[in-house]
Amino acid sequence: MTSPSTFDINRERMIEEQLVARGITDQRVLEAMRTVPRHLFVEDAIQAHAYGDFPLPIGSGQTISQPYIVALMTLALHLTGSEKVLEIGTGSGYHAAILSRLCQKVYTVERLDALVSRARKVFDRLRYYNIVSRIDDGTVGWPSEAPFDGIIVTAGGPRIPEPLIAQLAEPGRLVMPVGGQDVQELQVVDKRDGGITVTTIEQVRFVDLIGAHGWSN
Ligand code: SAH
Repeated sequence: MTSPSTFDINRERMIEEQLVARGITDQRVLEAMRTVPRHLFVEDAIQAHAYGDFPLPIGSGQTISQPYIVALMTLALHLTGSEKVLEIGTGSGYHAAILSRLCQKVYTVERLDALVSRARKVFDRLRYYNIVSRIDDGTVGWPSEAPFDGIIVTAGGPRIPEPLIAQLAEPGRLVMPVGGQDVQELQVVDKRDGGITVTTIEQVRFVDLIGAHGWSN
């Protein structure tokens, strides 16, 4: 048996101090966050800080969310293991990796080529084969693979893109930061019985969702 690395120890502390201590008790979500090596999704120079209670830079002016926010958004999807999930904003690939441990297949879309290329290498290294990715404007969704049981948008926009609501299965759940370019609220859309309900869970700060149904460049 090999002894735990500093990364393993820091990851376990992250679970206890940032997630459990703040009331996250869902065992499947906690287990996914215990399993995925967050430090592999950031540059070597900042790996030592990978398990801190804050967002991290991932290049191209983008950031990977604080672990607590990743957990909160994931929880909002109520995943049981059988779902198809669409993520807009692959970034480092960390959140897609978490989702891939909790559903059947993840479809992730990113507009910046450099980020997708790097994320794909990490998925391969970890053998997370149930993640497919593409380079595109994710605000139009992924029509050929719709509908999705869950949709998660990890960049902030002025409103929920209409194509994403259309590509949400019924029943289905969508989570996205909605608001201004400095601060947003996390909104959860629950689509069922021919209607949708929207609830708000937390104030957050995300980078811009840029695209046809987001902010203009
Ligand atoms: N989920 C990521 C964090 C992403 S940061 C992670 O776990 O690391 C938000 C990302 O959304 C950025 O990489 C940004 O380039 C991307 N993005 C912004 N607008 C987009 C759009 N219209 N379509 C796809 N990706 C977009």
